[in-house]
Amino acid sequence: MTNRSSGSSVALITGANKGIGFEISRQLAKRGITVVIGARDETRGAEAAARLRDEGLDAHHVRLDVTDASTIEPLPRFFEERFGRLDILVNNAGVLLDEGTPLSDLDIEVLRQTFATNFFGVFAVSKALLPLIRRSEAGRIVNVSSQLGSLADIVNPDSDYVGFVSFAYPSSKVAVNALTALLAKELRGSNVKVNSADPGWVQTDMGTAAAPLTPEEGADTPVWLATLPADGPSGGFFSSRKPMSW
Ligand code: NAP
Repeated sequence: MTNRSSGSSVALITGANKGIGFEISRQLAKRGITVVIGARDETRGAEAAARLRDEGLDAHHVRLDVTDASTIEPLPRFFEERFGRLDILVNNAGVLLDEGTPLSDLDIEVLRQTFATNFFGVFAVSKALLPLIRRSEAGRIVNVSSQLGSLADIVNPDSDYVGFVSFAYPSSKVAVNALTALLAKELRGSNVKVNSADPGWVQTDMGTAAAPLTPEEGADTPVWLATLPADGPSGGFFSSRKPMSW
């Protein structure tokens, strides 16, 4: 059995070879946390971890395609053997496959692919690693959601995103928010906090250069939730470190 109080905290960030996930990794590592970059492409993951090590940070990588059970199953053993612990899981990997396509034109296969990554991936990785995270004195699970996954925002005719047309992506983020609330409920009274983060509209391959926020800014709320103190919230949805409507 591992001594859970020894060494620095360890975090896994999924889809962290670029974009917001990479910046979350950097900011967590700058706080002295050992970070493991989850990447579906081994080479891109290794290169991302090397970039952080070049900055003097403690960064590692693991091959992880959140839609591929054969890459999820080895994760608990990987963390047990390499680090003896896992404290923080940031479910960041995500895809936007149907921008511009309303429900009436959407191929159900695209809906399935979107949910495979954005929802079932979060479920599978969280479930696999939960026993390890439960052993942490300060377990934190952060699900990177979106304002587009807020039902209150979807029905708001004055929303900033009123012109954004997509069905699969927003509904997958609504589902992620349900997972956050239900898992937080299951873990009530434990050392594990579960929250959803809206990073804002961020300059990444997904967000495009037209977005107003830098990846550094987009990473702020997820990092804040990943490092909440013991008296911090659980079962919430946050944007710019403030609660937002489901
Ligand atoms: P991004 O630059 O496109 O990066 C997405 C990351 O997810 C990449 O590392 C990608 O890997 C990875 N990924 C995709 N499918 C995966 C899978 N099956 N298994 C493992 N990794 C996978 O996007 P981003 O903007 O940084 O988005 C990060 C998160 O923020 C997503 O959940 C997104 O929905 C959310 N978000 C973004 C914005 C925004 O404005 N950018 C706004 C709200 C929410 P590859 O490099 O191999 O493709």
